[in-house]
Amino acid sequence: MDQQQDVFSGFRTAFKSFATEAIHVGQEPEQWKSMAVVPPISLSTTFKQNGPGNHAGFEYSRSGNPTRNCLEKAVAALDGAKYSLALASGLAATVTITHMLKAGDGIVCMDDVYGGTNRYFQRIAATNGLDVSFVDCTKPELLKAALKPNTKLFWIETPTNPTMKVVDIKACSDLVHEHDKNIVVVVDNTFMSAYFQRPLALGADICMYSATKYMNGHSDVVMGLVSMNREDLNERLRFLQNALGGVPSPFDCFLVNRGLKTLHLRMERHFKNGMAAAKFLEADPRVERVIFPGLPSHPQHDVMKKQCTGCPGMITFYIKGKLEHASAFLSNLKMFAIAESLGGYESLAEHPAIMTHASVPENERKILGISDTLIRLSVGLEDEADIIEDLDQALSAAHPKKK
Ligand SMILES: *Cc1c(COP(=O)(O)O)cnc(C)c1O
Repeated sequence: MDQQQDVFSGFRTAFKSFATEAIHVGQEPEQWKSMAVVPPISLSTTFKQNGPGNHAGFEYSRSGNPTRNCLEKAVAALDGAKYSLALASGLAATVTITHMLKAGDGIVCMDDVYGGTNRYFQRIAATNGLDVSFVDCTKPELLKAALKPNTKLFWIETPTNPTMKVVDIKACSDLVHEHDKNIVVVVDNTFMSAYFQRPLALGADICMYSATKYMNGHSDVVMGLVSMNREDLNERLRFLQNALGGVPSPFDCFLVNRGLKTLHLRMERHFKNGMAAAKFLEADPRVERVIFPGLPSHPQHDVMKKQCTGCPGMITFYIKGKLEHASAFLSNLKMFAIAESLGGYESLAEHPAIMTHASVPENERKILGISDTLIRLSVGLEDEADIIEDLDQALSAAHPKKK
């Protein structure tokens, strides 16, 4: 059987015309005097006006830039959104969104989110007078109890990093909006990309990304993206984008816009390679447990199939043994690079307890399951056989005795 068919079976069908929109929306040659097919990198910080206040849509590059506009239009189309904004980083997007709140307002956040999001909410937003609480959103009764009269923002991430907990976006959005329809529901869609998950269609008000990961996909840009359908949110966030000033450079906008042209191809290959690696690891006696939402063994595999069109190349697994076995595995990888970050074309491996999640206190790491034997892989776009071979030889180096 065609393996591509096989990995996607049971998931929602791909979004209609996704590839065509990724390639054409916002890219119309007619918008340029030169009729350039590929959007130019517009570096000018300022734009000539015909008379004071009489301009062709651009004044100053922080408030609006032609290359950034192309990217924002493409992203909106891919998220099934009316509006999209590009920010200087994923965290700049988070900060910009949070600036819609004022002192005394409340944020309810999933208890398992990106470390930088947690750090910003706890160590900056909370000390600036916002009322921040964390809750396990896989348990509706806990979520219900966490919502308060001052709650203005609800923040989730799915699947989570690195333990790949999956949250039912529709169930959470409905529950929160029933409590108060004005609460802004944000989904950090970084791990899935627009190709595999559309939070806005599932009831969220805002879909945000660290475009640094899959959306750009080439590990050469740090950027954030925010998409929405609500006009009031677009107006407020567009004002904040300019007023706070966390904007990306035109060159970075050019690169992410280019990255989007192959998003569908990259994600399909990430899924295929990720599934092959996950199956290999799950069948291997040197591995304790594999957490990959595309496998039936994942506790929320059904939610994943219900709300997604596929899975990214993120795999978390527990190697048998102790810290020394995890270290030996990582040190002996030949093709996978030991590195933080994820979502690029190249395969990466890391040790969350020592690397990306070292700032999480040990007792919290224990509760979340981030142990010394936990390893996170971002499976890239290389040949499947070479990926498996590298994992196999590194496992042999960590466990030299015969299986
Ligand atoms: C990397 C990441 C962020 C932060 O984005 P930056 O572009 O690094 O600022 C936010 N959320 C998730 C899930 C991430 O992986």
